Parts: sequence; C-alpha cells; structure tokens
Amino acid sequence: MAFELPKLKYAYTALEPHIDARTMEIHHSKHHQAYVTNLNNAIAGTDAEHLSIEEICKNISKYAMPVRNNGGGHFNHSLFWSILGPSTGNEPEGELLAAINAAFTSLADFKSQFAAAATGRFGSGWAWLVKKDGKLVISSTPNQDNPLMDVADVKGTPILGLDVWEHAYYLHYQNRRPDYITAFWNVVNWGEVAKRFKASQ
Ligand code: MN
Repeated sequence: MAFELPKLKYAYTALEPHIDARTMEIHHSKHHQAYVTNLNNAIAGTDAEHLSIEEICKNISKYAMPVRNNGGGHFNHSLFWSILGPSTGNEPEGELLAAINAAFTSLADFKSQFAAAATGRFGSGWAWLVKKDGKLVISSTPNQDNPLMDVADVKGTPILGLDVWEHAYYLHYQNRRPDYITAFWNVVNWGEVAKRFKASQ
C-alpha cells in the first residue's frame, strides 16, 4: 500500500493573509507530494511498505537517509496541515490549556518559548510541542526529523508542529521568519491540537 498525499480540509486561500495561497499550493502539491513520491520509491519492495508512517518514524535509525528525509517529510506535513485552519480566534482551553499553563506558566509564555525554538532552529527544520513522559515540552528538529524518531534529541508524541523551512514562508515573508511565526498563531486549529493531546494521554 503506497502512501498518499492527504487532501486538505480547507482551500489553499483559507489561511490568507497569514499564509498565502501560492505558498500553500506549492507547499502541499509540490513539496509534500515529492516527499510522498520519494518515500514510496525508497520503500518499494521492502517490509516498510506494510508499516504505518508512525511505525517507520519510531524505528527510523534502521532505514537509509531517503526514508528518514521523505518519511519524516510525509509525517510532518500531514500533521502540519491538520493543525492549521482558517483564522477563527480560537485558543486552547480545558485540559490542554491547563497542561500548557502547568508546563510553561501561561499561554503567552508558551508561545514565546515556542517562537524562540522556531526562530533559533538554524537552517531548515521544525519546532514542536511534544508530549514527553506525561508532560508538555518544546523542542526543535533539523531537516525532516521529528520527535517520534528514535534519533531525536527529545523523543515523544508531537502535538503541534511548525515548519520553518524557507519554502514554508519565503514567497510572502522572505527572510522574516519571526513574522511568519507570529502570523502562524492566527491559523492554528486548537481543536485539532486538543485532539492530538487527548490521544497522547
Ligand atoms: Mn515544508
């Protein structure tokens, strides 16, 4: 069973003006599609063809670099699209908000620490909110690595992720990664983040 590019639950224009339609279209239909195609090519005829992308990530040290780069790319982008959505002004609430407050003092402090991790990631990579040993922590990974991978410095279940590769923001924000990160908070689908948090319990 080959991996497939997931359909977005919203239009490419839906995240405007925070993430522009052209960036969304290229990012989803070209970049993510390439990760899917290259992952399928890399695992063709191997046992990995019968595994979930999560299972592959959890044992990623057993695989060659094309599987790590493209498998990570497929998992990361699938998560990313799911936790984005049209700007509604929604914020975390309930158990998720309580866990954020317990780990980071306040939602504002969480956002600022997450932004620091995303800004500070040199070159290409991701910032993450991770459930690790029952607690929420922030981490960042290089390239297409993620916290599920057995090679990650901080291992756990990713709850929220932000792509800070230049292809995620350069058309609209050019070199202004911090502005992209600030705008990102407007298009987070906190209901989906809460679902992932609950599933990690
Ligand atoms: Mn990307």
